[in-house]
Amino acid sequence: MRRDRKAKIIATLGPSSSDEEDIRNLFRAGADVFRLNFSHGDHDDHQQRLYTIRKLEKEVERPIAIMLDLQGPKLRVGQLAGGAVELKAGAPFRFDLETAIGDDRRAPLPHPEVFASLKAGTTLLLDDGKLSLQILDCGPDYAETRVVAGGTLRDRKGVNVPGAVLPISPLTKKDHEDLAFGLDLGVDWVALSFVQRPQDLLEAREIIDDRAAIMAKIEKPAALDCLEDIVNLSDAVMVARGDLGVEMPPEVVPGRQKDIVHACRTAGKPVVVATQMLESMISSPAPTRAEASDVATAVYDGADAVMLSAETASGDYPIESVEMMQRIIKSTEQDPSYQRILHARDGALEATAADAISAACAQVATTISASAICCYTMSGSTAYRAARERPFAPIMVLTNKRETARRLALLWGAHCVHTSDVRSTQEMVDKACALAVQEGFANIGDKLVITAGVPFGTPGTTNLLRIAWVSG
Ligand code: PGA
Ligand code: MN
Repeated sequence: MRRDRKAKIIATLGPSSSDEEDIRNLFRAGADVFRLNFSHGDHDDHQQRLYTIRKLEKEVERPIAIMLDLQGPKLRVGQLAGGAVELKAGAPFRFDLETAIGDDRRAPLPHPEVFASLKAGTTLLLDDGKLSLQILDCGPDYAETRVVAGGTLRDRKGVNVPGAVLPISPLTKKDHEDLAFGLDLGVDWVALSFVQRPQDLLEAREIIDDRAAIMAKIEKPAALDCLEDIVNLSDAVMVARGDLGVEMPPEVVPGRQKDIVHACRTAGKPVVVATQMLESMISSPAPTRAEASDVATAVYDGADAVMLSAETASGDYPIESVEMMQRIIKSTEQDPSYQRILHARDGALEATAADAISAACAQVATTISASAICCYTMSGSTAYRAARERPFAPIMVLTNKRETARRLALLWGAHCVHTSDVRSTQEMVDKACALAVQEGFANIGDKLVITAGVPFGTPGTTNLLRIAWVSG
């Protein structure tokens, strides 16, 4: 079973998409990666979904990536009398570390680290930016503010401090528990929320090691100041526009989205564009024209994957959302101007054998109209470099590691096949040809471009390019 497109689809699972039939239908509709959002649901729910995906994987004989998205240090207001209070523009309001239930004059903000980063003049955003407050005066355990944009403040709503770098780890106690649980279950990707600095990646890597690949979610402006280092330390990056658009004005998010996608493509790291992509499909069977355009823009920019959140997790039209996303991707990739726009900002090659070979593969495949580029890889690094070229031909990733096949389901243009290792060039050619036919990428008489590292079985040695004819 092959997908006739390069960009991938991530579908978040939730109450609208939990039973076996739902998940199978999402996969059939086009979902390549399933996201388990640990901000919602309990361990039992996530475990059940994971088992269902693994069962489906056997049934469809395709590797499927599972992503554990950690909640991270999302700051929240404490309890309020009656569950909600009304804040009026111009009125004073106080946050402190007291445990007493809040009212319309003060509320608990149970995050001691936050107070240390506040200054007079700092803006606090509440409930995804619907309410805003300005700090007038503050100390180690309190902040006096004035309400700038008022409204109803409910219990436990999120608090954002745009611009501030908070002295907090990206992993809370809950994250540590969720991570241990998810790694034991065998998730393929871990998404780290609210990454602020490169050190955050090192901290996560220390725990995760190579048990899962790490995706850094860029949703804090501070992360943009050290984007290159964060990209280099991550296995992939997400443009997390939901929180990013609260932390900074929405009108600057599109430009930063382009920067992040470009930085990742230059580094050869997968990049995901996320949040509100088909938002109106949560309750409507068709997207707005603006949403269709947004998905297409991410595809033209060469994002590896586009993501659905509430659309598939809790919306009324989860399957239709994935189908719609797939239609937009295919239509965009077939657009006559797609190739030109996709390659408009290609970065320079790294001066390595791997990049020289990858670039040559893409070039040769185009010149001879090869049906596919077949990439033998263990760690996946050869495939990452091949995808970095955004070649016209599809990339068949042949790997003897099941984890690699699953992780790379996220990668642009990659069709992963888990297969046994090869020991000779003849075996390499024969296997690539047989699998290309079996997976629907080639017919007899077609040409393939094959890349690998010899001696076989030594990671990090991409040094071979071979053209093969598929024979009967
Ligand atoms: P979230 O992350 O859905 O976990 O908040 C994505 C985003 O903020 O865009
Ligand atoms: Mn977020």
